[in-house]
Amino acid sequence: MPGKTNMEKGTISIHTENIFPIIKKWLYSEKEIFLRELVSNAVDAIHKLQHINIVEGLKLSDEYAVDISVDKDAGTLTVKDNGIGMTAEEIRKYINQIAFSSAEEFVEKFKDLEDKNQIIGHFGLGFYSSFMVADEVEIRSLSYRPEAEGAHWRCDGTTSYELDSVEKKDRGTEVILHLSKDEQEFLDPERIRGVLQKFCNFLPIPIRLAGDTVNDRNPLWTKTPSEIDEKEYREFYKKLYPFSDEPLFWIHLNVDFPFNLKGILYFPRLNTEFDVTKSHIKLFCNQVFVSDNCPELIPEFLTPLQGCLDAPDLPLNVSRSYLQNDPQVRKIRDVISARVAAKITELAKKDRESFGGIWEDIHTFVKYGMMRDEKFFEKVKDQVIYRTTNESRYTTLPEYLERAKDSHPDKVFYANDETSQATYLKLFRSQGLEVLILDAMIDSHFVQYLEMKNPQIRFERVDADVAKSLIDEDRSKDIIQGQDLKTANDRIREIFEKVLDRKDLKVRVESLKDNSIPGMIILPEQNRRLKEMTRMMGHESDDLFSEHSLLVNSASAVVRNLMKLQEQDRREDVEILVRHVYDLALLGQQAFSKEKMEEFLERSNRILEMVSNK
Ligand code: ADP
Repeated sequence: MPGKTNMEKGTISIHTENIFPIIKKWLYSEKEIFLRELVSNAVDAIHKLQHINIVEGLKLSDEYAVDISVDKDAGTLTVKDNGIGMTAEEIRKYINQIAFSSAEEFVEKFKDLEDKNQIIGHFGLGFYSSFMVADEVEIRSLSYRPEAEGAHWRCDGTTSYELDSVEKKDRGTEVILHLSKDEQEFLDPERIRGVLQKFCNFLPIPIRLAGDTVNDRNPLWTKTPSEIDEKEYREFYKKLYPFSDEPLFWIHLNVDFPFNLKGILYFPRLNTEFDVTKSHIKLFCNQVFVSDNCPELIPEFLTPLQGCLDAPDLPLNVSRSYLQNDPQVRKIRDVISARVAAKITELAKKDRESFGGIWEDIHTFVKYGMMRDEKFFEKVKDQVIYRTTNESRYTTLPEYLERAKDSHPDKVFYANDETSQATYLKLFRSQGLEVLILDAMIDSHFVQYLEMKNPQIRFERVDADVAKSLIDEDRSKDIIQGQDLKTANDRIREIFEKVLDRKDLKVRVESLKDNSIPGMIILPEQNRRLKEMTRMMGHESDDLFSEHSLLVNSASAVVRNLMKLQEQDRREDVEILVRHVYDLALLGQQAFSKEKMEEFLERSNRILEMVSNK
């Protein structure tokens, strides 16, 4: 018969001295996790019973659930389960001897069982975390074993405990917390609901608060991908991130080997103020929420990813340093990186049009990832697309090079600013030369990286040189002027050099096939890159234009007329035209200073005067 006469008083021996200071320290961090620990234990106890039920053929057909209730008058919070229960002996063993891992024993016993992932065995301080909020904790438990007697344990957070038998009819365990004075907030059902939603939202057993089930037992990541439709993925995303835009696409992970990893990773639209420095993945361990800031779990370049990962092999109380040093975490990162590469390849191959639609949102981190991760680079390098002036709108590099192989093999023309480089683009287009638009911040680095990876290819910005195919070679050489045996082009160069009189300026005269452009600025690629780099590193550097060439197009009407004026010795008009050709070429490339602008406008007005005077 249960009764006070049999009461056992004792001291909790093992490791106690070590445990309590740690719990005290926890007091200052996240107190509410005590509920996660108790509910996890309760779920664990139910899982254990479910296994035994199968293995020992107990034929139990209970409706398993964890019930949480508060009693304001008594000042108690109770977590009740109908799981495996504990005998007094087991309480002695499992509760008093904290360091004892019951899960280990359980695994021993049922190691042939297939689904042992469900054994939530690594909960660290688990049960004892209840002393963070309670002055006294009671356990009332009835084991599933036939003939078991109810057991009652109480402890006030010191090293002494009482163990007693008790009348208990229903199998399972009740943990009753007598909340301390300062923790009365946990008597508020709304507060409890909030904590449950945070940590227990996706637990596999119904979690009830005052009778209401609060959790979704079968979160989407636990289902088979082939059985889920697009709408469900989108709805699940909304549930995880209620205020976000629609995701671009997602990846459903379902890895069993060499470790367990489930989850759904979403690619968000990056247009809004999205904090790319913070990890957005929610980490679960067997459906128990662990943390939503574990940047170590995913490759750095994938930080913008959202969604959830369930990694049952990681401990529930993961620490930063654990994640940083655990070899398994690196493997998880590798798996994720490989899966992202596979998804990108799949999307790229499926439909270029729609891939182009999401490309602007993802290209930055794809490129960043390629520069950071060799394997990732290899997997996606041929899928990367570039905006192009070709009618296809987007192209891959191999496709571009294939089209270019006759006119400019191994040379890739690109523009990084369609507005300021409009003249050049027009020129290239008119000659049927394809130009890639690389106008994102990351592209200047990416171009260098691609060149390093493909040493036979050179990227050349449209203003870096004039492509041979744009020049009308015959006309450039042919025209001889008078007796001095100079080509017309030499004459033009002299005139421009004399008028402009700048040491840092080289004048080059060519006859272009396009005669609508009188002049263009040329900035040699390597030189310009070097200057851009020095500037980016914060060093003082001379102006990008400190060394540049003016390409004068002798085929243009303006330059041809200019030569006529020169023959008539109309020096002033020649000077106005020369300066204006140069300024117009410059203006496309850079904004003018105030003084330069004033001079330019003044000259423009004079030109208008001249034209209207004709
Ligand atoms: P852990 O869960 O990491 O083993 P805990 O301190 O949370 O550590 O629990 C110690 C042990 O007490 C558990 O392993 C389990 O055997 C037992 N236990 C705790 N809560 C319950 C419960 N609700 N039902 C049955 N056994 C429990």
